[in-house]
Amino acid sequence: MKYSNKILNTPSSFIRNILKVTDAPDVISFAGGLPNPISFPIDDLQKSINHAIEENGAKLFQYSTTEGYLPLRQYIVEKYKKSHGLDFDPEDILITTGSQQALQLISQVLINKGEGIVMEEPGYLGAIQAFTLAEPSFYTVVLDEDGLNVEQLEDTLKNNRNIKFIYTVPNFHNPTGITYSRENREAVYEVVKNYDVVLIEDDPYGDLRWHGEQLPYIGAGRLENSVLLGSFSKVVTPGMRLGYIVTKNKELMHHINTAKQATDLHTNIFSQIIIHDYLVNNDLDSHVKKIINLYQTQANTMLNAMAKYFPSTVKYTKPDGGMFIWVTLEEGTSALDFFYKAMEEKVAFVPGDPFYTSKTNVNTLRLNYTNSSPEMIEEGIKRLGKILYSLTSE
Ligand code: PMP
Repeated sequence: MKYSNKILNTPSSFIRNILKVTDAPDVISFAGGLPNPISFPIDDLQKSINHAIEENGAKLFQYSTTEGYLPLRQYIVEKYKKSHGLDFDPEDILITTGSQQALQLISQVLINKGEGIVMEEPGYLGAIQAFTLAEPSFYTVVLDEDGLNVEQLEDTLKNNRNIKFIYTVPNFHNPTGITYSRENREAVYEVVKNYDVVLIEDDPYGDLRWHGEQLPYIGAGRLENSVLLGSFSKVVTPGMRLGYIVTKNKELMHHINTAKQATDLHTNIFSQIIIHDYLVNNDLDSHVKKIINLYQTQANTMLNAMAKYFPSTVKYTKPDGGMFIWVTLEEGTSALDFFYKAMEEKVAFVPGDPFYTSKTNVNTLRLNYTNSSPEMIEEGIKRLGKILYSLTSE
């Protein structure tokens, strides 16, 4: 059988493939990006399931509107008013099947074959995968410690007029854990506002901050072609597959709505009504606080263990929130080789390669700390440290 070029050119997710191997019970896995299941509010969701069925009956089981359940969209409007002082309307919001679907819809709406997308380097591999289906040209801009390299961004936009959108994860970035500084956000805004491009801010982790102050978005609420993406995956549960797109650009929203109709008619209404019931009948802030405390403890355990067991030539980020630490090995060390050696010692992580659109055999890798106990984190990092000493010149 002959397959389409777009599917043949789309990489199968390295993470989803290795998760099959790393899921074995005796493997300590820092590979996935899974929220800790002890953070799922199962009892309260159970109550909401019963309550929502009692209240709404058949509505939970019927087809529904493409843009999503109005009370949930109203809840999201209130959330951004409260957290960021942003003024959205329910019409500015469309509920998606996870924010992953938002990435796919937006690239379908904006990209003709060969047109440009600016990606952070390294960037979220699920976005690389979703966008690749639209057969774009990728342009990468290096992610510095405090955000996008603004000079490179400006050069890239100036020299490539086929660029349609810029994709960013400004808070607790996947895979690096980096957060764009206030100054960097302002500088990115000052560049982007001069170009006819869409700025996507994908923010599934923004609420999970344990250090520093919350920062304003780059473009949301002030840039005409701004798209903000959110998700309930990291603060309630990923299995319900609920994310959303926020944009005040009505024409863009109209086309996204058409793409959504064509894709799956609407997001699971059962999930939408249940989560809405959960959100209005529980204190989400105190629930999120518990998740933050849990992840902060896990992140600190990992950072302390790395300081203790890793050679000093190994560099790594220190996140202010979120789920990931990004590790840079000594120049010339292959993270993929390290990965295979680590698997022999029953420890897993994601080598950096799939986070780049055009680099291979890199010396970087991603560690996730949210889904292992402090004891497992300590033990896993100890084993990794031992291998690293055997690989490096120290
Ligand atoms: N964007 C980023 C940056 C992510 O890390 C993830 C989850 N790994 C997603 C989007 C997708 O999240 P979901 O579809 O569960 O909302």
